[in-house]
Amino acid sequence: MKIEDVQSTTKKQRIATHTHIKGLGLDKAGSALPMAAGFVGQINAREAAGLVVDMIRQKKMAGRALLFAGPPSTGKTALALGISQELGSKVPFCPMVGSEVFSSEVKKTEVLMENFRRAIGLRIKENKEVYEGEVSELSPEEAEITTGAYGKGISHVIIGLKTVKGQKQLKLDPTIYDALIKEKVAVGDVIYIEANSGAVKRVGRSDVFATEFDLEAEEYVPLPKGEVHKKKEIVQDVTLHDLDAANARPQGGQDILSLMGQMMKPRKTEITDKLRQEINKVVNRYIDEGVAELVPGVLFIDEVHMLDMECFSYLNRALESSLSPIVILATNRGICNVRGTDISSPHGIPFDLLDRLVIIRTETYDPSEMIQILAIRAQVEELGIDEESLAYLGEIGQQASLRHAVQLLYPASIIAKINGRDKICKADLEEVGGLYLDAKTSGRLLQEQQNSYIV
Ligand code: ATP
Repeated sequence: MKIEDVQSTTKKQRIATHTHIKGLGLDKAGSALPMAAGFVGQINAREAAGLVVDMIRQKKMAGRALLFAGPPSTGKTALALGISQELGSKVPFCPMVGSEVFSSEVKKTEVLMENFRRAIGLRIKENKEVYEGEVSELSPEEAEITTGAYGKGISHVIIGLKTVKGQKQLKLDPTIYDALIKEKVAVGDVIYIEANSGAVKRVGRSDVFATEFDLEAEEYVPLPKGEVHKKKEIVQDVTLHDLDAANARPQGGQDILSLMGQMMKPRKTEITDKLRQEINKVVNRYIDEGVAELVPGVLFIDEVHMLDMECFSYLNRALESSLSPIVILATNRGICNVRGTDISSPHGIPFDLLDRLVIIRTETYDPSEMIQILAIRAQVEELGIDEESLAYLGEIGQQASLRHAVQLLYPASIIAKINGRDKICKADLEEVGGLYLDAKTSGRLLQEQQNSYIV
């Protein structure tokens, strides 16, 4: 048995409850459709978010950030995700919670920096070899050979070879190409080319010539026989953090990120500022060469009031950087102290940062909107539920929160299944409602039963 690293799944789980959100659901004029792209209601906030998308497209958000302020479960995360989807399907969306920055091992600003880099995408266009077809199906321009020179006027060549010491990619000379077809050479065959002052004298398959030359063919990894390699443009979407991580790992990562992996030898073991600077240099070079294109994504920081002065000043500086993603903050707090200080400020955010924010309010949902949202979630999770139960769940949502109501759906479906039904009924919801407390009820009970708890 192997002890493996615990991989964090929190980022994926945080988006899992929003799979029904496909955009902001606006019409061409920017007006919010009552129910579209998975969104219900929240009309003003969605329209305001749509204008922000326009501002981002016109590069008018540089140095600024967006703040969603509103009660819990009013769709702040969903709106941030909707914005990133409106910006494009490959735009990175990196959600985090303010409290994530507090760790005994990693500096707060380091956590922020990592998340910033998770939210900056890079589209790399790479010419990669793909293996398909027969040699004869390729034109000389499409075929490539890999060679290692072995002196004595003889080149040792393997078609479709990837790992050769001191390898050199060569365009296939038409003379060699014709000879390869005549000799019925397939990709993966080791072939020999005898040349004299650049002129090709003999070309042949390994099994014909192998005994004539003392070559170490086992050093090479031939491709599967009968396939040829063609060059194709492969587009890879990665984030700056992917590149940091791939280049910090002692080995591996090369296949996914071959282009960048090759650039950063020798490999290091942790992500340092220096490594990030090197990555930035390479990235900038690729951008200049037109090989890569920057795709600024969305960094969503929920519960932003959990951040302290050090983090806020980092945010202020990071917003100025040319490599900045779109930063969206969210809070459900009103006027409160900036964490760790006695300075009171709206949403617990210092005034200098507040000044840079575009603020959008989110409103609580009425019962019919809540029922519609719950119906969408039930449909996405493929859970059957009848009208009466949906209405009852809507009431639970009104009393507790929409998120609590959404979270009851799955356990209720398990109870329905145990009782031999494939549709959730009101009794199932009553049963799970008795098993799980929502935050408000839990808080109330704690207050009522204070004496039974250790203080
Ligand atoms: P918090 O302040 O607690 O972080 P929030 O305001 O970010 O909450 P969300 O997490 O976005 O709220 O919403 C809770 C759930 O309801 C999610 O599953 C979300 O996708 C869904 N939801 C919220 N608003 C809408 C809406 N207007 N239309 C469709 N689904 C919505």
